[in-house]
Amino acid sequence: MYVVGLTGGIASGKTTISDIFSSLGAAVIDTDVVSRSLLEPKQKGFHKVVEKVGKSILLDNGEIDRRALRQLIFSDEKLKHWLESILHPIILTECREQIDLTESSPYVILVVPLLFESDFKSLVDRVLAVDCSKEIQLKRLTARDEISVDFAERIISQQISNEDRINRADDIILNNGEESELITQVNKLHQLYSLRSDPGLG
Ligand code: ATP
Repeated sequence: MYVVGLTGGIASGKTTISDIFSSLGAAVIDTDVVSRSLLEPKQKGFHKVVEKVGKSILLDNGEIDRRALRQLIFSDEKLKHWLESILHPIILTECREQIDLTESSPYVILVVPLLFESDFKSLVDRVLAVDCSKEIQLKRLTARDEISVDFAERIISQQISNEDRINRADDIILNNGEESELITQVNKLHQLYSLRSDPGLG
């Protein structure tokens, strides 16, 4: 299966773009979705996190407060590394299984926020990076997550720079404009990936 890794900084537009790929018939596997499901009660990551962080991380309904967990790991580097060391191998295995099970699509879009900072590179044939200006990224992030500009800037500063990401990608989508402008860019790439994934033509 031909796999395209879709990466980009926080709130750069990965989900918005993967939704368009999906509407064109591409299979989409999102590592954030896989990661979230692992933190649900009774799933592999749940007990490990509660054991490590304590029950104060639970909401009244018994689920992990992912917003609070995110706040915690951004202010505690050690905890962040611990959580990644627990979750990444399980997510990697789960993604590999989902890719192997994909039949209905010529290629897979694998959404991986930290593609260059992780082992997920080993799963992809090609890298597509989303780029947008820091000002727009900050505006969209603070509006969507209702967080302060200061906290949003700290999150962004912990990720690799947009410039680095662009230099290392095979393809780039620029997301500074309207959502409708994304459709043309995604359409072109859909054609390219459909060709590339065809063993007779690629
Ligand atoms: P995360 O890194 O947190 O997973 P993401 O990269 O998947 O985020 P999205 O959730 O797709 O980013 O987009 C972030 C926010 O910006 C969302 O509220 C989305 O609706 C909005 N957004 C994305 N692209 C555009 C656009 N071109 N115009 C206006 N709003 C946009």
